[in-house]
Amino acid sequence: MTLSAPITQHVHTIPRKAPDGPANLIGLTRDGMREAFVAAGTPEKQAKMRVNQVWQWIYHWGVRDFAQMTNLAKDYRALLAQHFVIALPEIVSKQVSSDGTRKYLVRIAGGHEVETVYIPEEDRGTLCVSSQVGCTLTCSFCHTGTQKLVRNLTAGEIVGQVMLVRDDLGEWPVPGAPKDETRLLSNIVLMGMGEPLYNFDAVRDAMKISMDAEGLQLSRRRITLSTSGVVPEIARTATEIGCNLAISFHATTDAVRDVLVPINKRWNIATLLDALREYPNLSNSERITFEYVMLDGVNDSDEDARRLVTLIEGIPAKINLIPFNEWPGAPYKRSSNNRIRAFADIIYKAGYASPIRTPRGEDIMAACGQLKSATERARKSRDAIAAEAGLPPA
Ligand code: SAH
Ligand code: SF4
Repeated sequence: MTLSAPITQHVHTIPRKAPDGPANLIGLTRDGMREAFVAAGTPEKQAKMRVNQVWQWIYHWGVRDFAQMTNLAKDYRALLAQHFVIALPEIVSKQVSSDGTRKYLVRIAGGHEVETVYIPEEDRGTLCVSSQVGCTLTCSFCHTGTQKLVRNLTAGEIVGQVMLVRDDLGEWPVPGAPKDETRLLSNIVLMGMGEPLYNFDAVRDAMKISMDAEGLQLSRRRITLSTSGVVPEIARTATEIGCNLAISFHATTDAVRDVLVPINKRWNIATLLDALREYPNLSNSERITFEYVMLDGVNDSDEDARRLVTLIEGIPAKINLIPFNEWPGAPYKRSSNNRIRAFADIIYKAGYASPIRTPRGEDIMAACGQLKSATERARKSRDAIAAEAGLPPA
């Protein structure tokens, strides 16, 4: 691949209907859609079949216009068009990194914006999806954490990110064409802006829709939800979604984790690990990913690596080391490559996979923890961030 300078491209989008107009079908579960169809006058007996038909058009074929749903009678199409819309958020702009990563600025109802990142790799294409505008949590190394929570995304706005990016990749199937097994968008990670477990119901519904076998067909094994450690919701993630789980672990003592991931003051390391021991049984998933951001001199010693291995003993796990991605005003530095390798080596020798995550899309601020919508006013100054992290002013 030839490396080129990042480009910014403004994408033309069709104007969307006002949010107080007819109800949006995107984001409704099958049951929700069924109820909506019945309320709009569909006979009870036909409702299930109508849902099957409309569902396929929307989520399998990517159709947005009732007029194109040719296996429905004309007057039924008219009834649907009278009561419903098929509306997605808008792509405001797209930036493409020199490494092929695409960062989309997505506008949702109310004029708020979130970021969605598509990361192409050799054997897969991963979409990093946002679940909230901003975040209520204030992890001291995370750019999103400096932005106030504005609101939760709806299920439609979450699955809408997947659909918009499929549009942009031109990946909806073409009727009659041979089935193509290689998917550009093959995996979802809930690792964008926000804490997904603080918006559980919408995240669950959006993932159920994404997993549906008659629609987007992403298997639960290709979806990973990352949480900072909202302990009471972890079991539900297993039983109600069943996807893979990643934990933003980042420290091996409560004293350090209290600063890096302040939710630790509510549910500390021991409490979190107890909840995690149950996860694989409940969800039938293979391993939990422990995400560990490498911060120079803060959490990256050999002692930390050894403590980490001891802490997670007995949990089927892999440890994903994330070189810290800097952002303007960040109070930390990335650990050196040698330090990261030495840390990885200790973990590897203890029998755990310890991949070091290659930062993607850094030139367009699309890498982990760099997402933040420029339109939302910063809640904290640089000095306030530094002070909270127990560091001198920048
Ligand atoms: N709120 C959820 C999901 C979003 S964050 C969570 O915290 O898990 C996705 C991952 O990026 C988390 O592991 C987070 O800790 C990590 N991250 C945040 N800021 C980062 C930064 N500046 N550099 C590297 N990783 C970061
Ligand atoms: Fe929120 Fe996750 Fe960032 Fe923490 S790391 S502030 S939980 S988005």
